[in-house]
Amino acid sequence: MADHYEVLGVDKSASPEEIKKAYRKLAREFHPDVNPEPSASDRFKSVTHAYDVLSDPRQRQEYDQGGSAGFGGGAQGFGGFSDIFDTFFGGGAPGGGGSGAAPRSRKERGGDALLRVEVDLDEVIFGTKRDLEVNTAILCDTCEGTCCAPGTRAVVCDICHGSGQIQRAVRSLLGNIMTSSPCGTCRGYGTVIPSPCPTCAGQGRVRATRKMTVDIPAGVDTGLRLQLPNQGEVGPAGGANGDLYLEIKVKHHEVYSRNGDDLMATLEVSMVDAVLGSRVRVDALDGELDLELKPGTQSADIITVKDRGVSKLRGGGRGDLKIGVQVVTPTKLSGKEQELMRQFAGSHKSKAPHLAEFQQGLFAKLRDRFLHV
Ligand SMILES: [Zn+2]
Ligand SMILES: [Zn+2]
Repeated sequence: MADHYEVLGVDKSASPEEIKKAYRKLAREFHPDVNPEPSASDRFKSVTHAYDVLSDPRQRQEYDQGGSAGFGGGAQGFGGFSDIFDTFFGGGAPGGGGSGAAPRSRKERGGDALLRVEVDLDEVIFGTKRDLEVNTAILCDTCEGTCCAPGTRAVVCDICHGSGQIQRAVRSLLGNIMTSSPCGTCRGYGTVIPSPCPTCAGQGRVRATRKMTVDIPAGVDTGLRLQLPNQGEVGPAGGANGDLYLEIKVKHHEVYSRNGDDLMATLEVSMVDAVLGSRVRVDALDGELDLELKPGTQSADIITVKDRGVSKLRGGGRGDLKIGVQVVTPTKLSGKEQELMRQFAGSHKSKAPHLAEFQQGLFAKLRDRFLHV
């Protein structure tokens, strides 16, 4: 840690007055509201800390004798802005308000933004990219977040002397007590901006449309929110960015639906193919697929194709493709065909129609089986 005397730029023998004067000068130079340099805030802190130590006779003595940085002995260390301002800008009226609120910072964190993104089911299988336009607040180019017109800077408020607080004595049953309220002139910031930046009207940020390309990972599902840190709106006076959230909606697909990481579809099969068995080639979402129908295939049989579902969001392969069979009974048979069917019936002993447990249609039956296979 740098020597406290060096930090303040004073002699070891400096008087309390000299120390106070040096501090006052440096504090005005490095106060974060006045000095936009990123390093200013750190300088301000070390200057303040040096002053905290050297302005207290006991801590200064300890420090001079080679003690630690002066945090001991009841010192509060970094007491925040209020202590500093109370110490020398004239706040800290006796009997109260000594630890009043600090001046507000103009810088605040920006808000989060939410964007809805629609993706197709086949894009979900392997993930995709999206070009997005985000309408959001960005840093003002003209003032770069200082809120001041070019060539000007914020100045310490005359009314509250930079504390952001106005203290008043209020009469009460217990005598006079001190209360503090935000300074009306600077709205509690401790500084005022004499010439606001014309581009952003002194806000430090402007609205703009930003283009960006984002990765949509495989396996996302409707309702999922992807968080993109620091891609939301920039805060007032160049404060930190909020986050951008992408809310995913997976579009309805005419054939395929989804159950977790599994894809589901129905295969309509003619009665003849179901009876005799067959090989079929179908279009899956990610290329063609050969399926084998065994002779004697029944409605609601499930054909499971391993690893042809959706890639899992957190890695670890893909789900399965589950195809439910629906046997389609032919209609509008010609006279000859009807005759053939009768011949078939005559030579094949099948059970007469009989009652069994109620099934809520094929769809429900399929879903039921999906959930239990
Ligand atoms: Zn501006
Ligand atoms: Zn003020």
